[in-house]
Amino acid sequence: MKNKTVYIPLDIEYEGKNYLKSRGYKIIIGEDVEKKSVLEAIKSCDAILTRSNVMIDKEVIQAGEKLKIISKYGVGINNIDVDFASKQGIYVTITPEANANVVAEHVMALMLILCKKIMIMDHALRSGNFDIRNNLYSEDLEMKTLGILGLGRIGKLVAAKAYYGFGMNVIGFDPYQEKEASFIDIKQSLHDVLVEADIISLHLPLLPSTHHIIGVEEFAKMKESAYLINTSRGGTVDEKALVVALKKKTIAGAGIDVFEKEPPDVQDELFTLDNVIVTPHSAALSKDGSVKMAIHAALQIDQVLSG
Ligand code: NAD
Repeated sequence: MKNKTVYIPLDIEYEGKNYLKSRGYKIIIGEDVEKKSVLEAIKSCDAILTRSNVMIDKEVIQAGEKLKIISKYGVGINNIDVDFASKQGIYVTITPEANANVVAEHVMALMLILCKKIMIMDHALRSGNFDIRNNLYSEDLEMKTLGILGLGRIGKLVAAKAYYGFGMNVIGFDPYQEKEASFIDIKQSLHDVLVEADIISLHLPLLPSTHHIIGVEEFAKMKESAYLINTSRGGTVDEKALVVALKKKTIAGAGIDVFEKEPPDVQDELFTLDNVIVTPHSAALSKDGSVKMAIHAALQIDQVLSG
């Protein structure tokens, strides 16, 4: 696309850049994500391809005098003033299909690591404790009941992997989805999932209605043997209540990829507990997933700029 420029504040995989170059776009890769640099670079650009750590607020959007599209590498748009962009006639796009399977695989990994006690076994063996194998039982996923909150793109994929891949029973709650796969037992309330599930996995957007959807009362309803997995958004779980539930063993454990504040303060008590495993909001960031996100984000730009 002659004379069109794409600004990428934080470099992406070369496959995405190659696609844009093959279509004739000029690319500007940012040196840092400081607001001053972003404000300067965006002036001459027709598109910005951005990650979560670049604030695309009103001021930045206004500075982009030629801007036609804000293409998000990923799905979360908390860093973009979407309302203002829309009022200016600027497209905001995301790459939902590129990372759903990657996140679903991460969920299965967290479940397996928790149930198979991989972290505990690993630490024990490294400190010379081979006998842990006789003192600590791992658990099987097969026949466990997985409760999924939010049966959208990722929730449905997790459900299929759990049911077909691991022989789990799958129940779920999502008041906004009508038709679901026959193997998912849809519950009429959050309560039913909380009391029945052995593992609860969150796949909800962060909205006022889902903020702290899992808190003190919800932990009290869960089985003492239950695990909580959260790869959705940190604010869906009340982290203080989670720490209390893990310490008091109201639940057995948790696998957490997303935090109320990111990056989280690793001095927090959560990070001292051995019945929680944590990953740094990295569920979508596999090598293959990153390439897909870069290509999808580039395709969105081409679709908008080439009309
Ligand atoms: P989606 O929009 O396809 O699905 C979300 C589902 O939640 C929808 O079906 C919706 O009806 C349902 N829902 C909304 N409010 C609900 C409520 N109160 N109770 C039950 N269900 C409710 O979204 P998705 O692509 O599946 O993503 C799910 C979450 O995962 C999002 O928060 C997204 O930001 C997050 N995510 C995280 C990562 C990561 O790296 N950890 C990567 C991608 C997506």
